[in-house]
Amino acid sequence: MAGRLGEFELIETYFAPLTRGVEGAFNLKDDAAVIVPPAGKSMVITTDTIVEGVHFFSDDLPEDIAAKMLRVSLSDLAAMGSIPAYYNLSIAITTSISGQWFDKFTKSLKADQDKYGIFLIGGDTVLTPGPLTFTITAIGFIAVGKILRRNGAKIDDDIWVSGSIGDAALGLMVAKGKLNHVSDTQKKYLITRYRRPDPRTELAPNLLDDVNAAIDISDGLIADLGHMCSESKVGADILMANIPLSRAGRSVINHEPSYLELVLGGGDDFELLFTADRSIRDTFKSISKNLEISLTRIGSIVNTRSVRIFDQSGAQYSPKGIGYTHF
Ligand code: ADP
Ligand code: MG
Repeated sequence: MAGRLGEFELIETYFAPLTRGVEGAFNLKDDAAVIVPPAGKSMVITTDTIVEGVHFFSDDLPEDIAAKMLRVSLSDLAAMGSIPAYYNLSIAITTSISGQWFDKFTKSLKADQDKYGIFLIGGDTVLTPGPLTFTITAIGFIAVGKILRRNGAKIDDDIWVSGSIGDAALGLMVAKGKLNHVSDTQKKYLITRYRRPDPRTELAPNLLDDVNAAIDISDGLIADLGHMCSESKVGADILMANIPLSRAGRSVINHEPSYLELVLGGGDDFELLFTADRSIRDTFKSISKNLEISLTRIGSIVNTRSVRIFDQSGAQYSPKGIGYTHF
């Protein structure tokens, strides 16, 4: 399979080393993996598929494809508050994929395994005429009963976000050859935010005792806030001026304010969006300080059924192209 590479050789050479240290992966030499969940822990399980031409481009680097694929799953684990543990990887590949490609792909996986603390434990390998398709099923652990859900937001809660918003959507614009007025350093920063989102693996377990609802921002700030509100049966009012922008994001917006629509509507930031009682603001200040992750209050949960954005003059801001549907 895969040209000169047989399926067995592919698994043994490139994938088996990624299981090192996990006894129950049996070096990928048995029919399935066996894991023993630690006592008192629930398992959090999430699956994501990426397809060539849909979620990545044919000429994207294997390193970038691997990193984004794994990090998207890690972000889902973080959004539930869990700590990453294992993943399965299913690959549908074409015969044109070389050993060199797999070498780069799996080296990138290995680097992220080390960075985020997750191990490969199994998968599946099939040939396809195309497009390339990769599916990850990731498993995390969390103390029983401690899960973060989308549906717990309460009226008058503060709404918080980690990091900065809009970088990934702006990074995609840069990748498409737009935003030529920003500096090369800022272009590089934005593209990296798009290609290599940094899932909030470290932050999430620190939120378990204090947060009422949480979601990761994959579809866009407004869309995901909408998902959270709809599940929680509440609404949200946010202040445009409070939405945290990176330095690069800020310079894009200063130059071309219409890109605010992308900041609000663009996806792929993989930051955490969460709500908590306003009496515990200091808790998040100290979490932010300890972890060196910025946490910003962007608004509050209200007794409506919509997400509203207000500008500095107190006027409601309604950019086109972003759904303001009531729910
Ligand atoms: P079966 O035919 O019994 O489904 P496979 O040949 O598909 O077995 O898989 C053999 C072993 O190799 C299993 O442990 C499986 O988890 C592992 N495996 C197959 N493909 C991959 C992959 N792409 N990544 C990681 N593990 C894989
Ligand atoms: Mg199989």
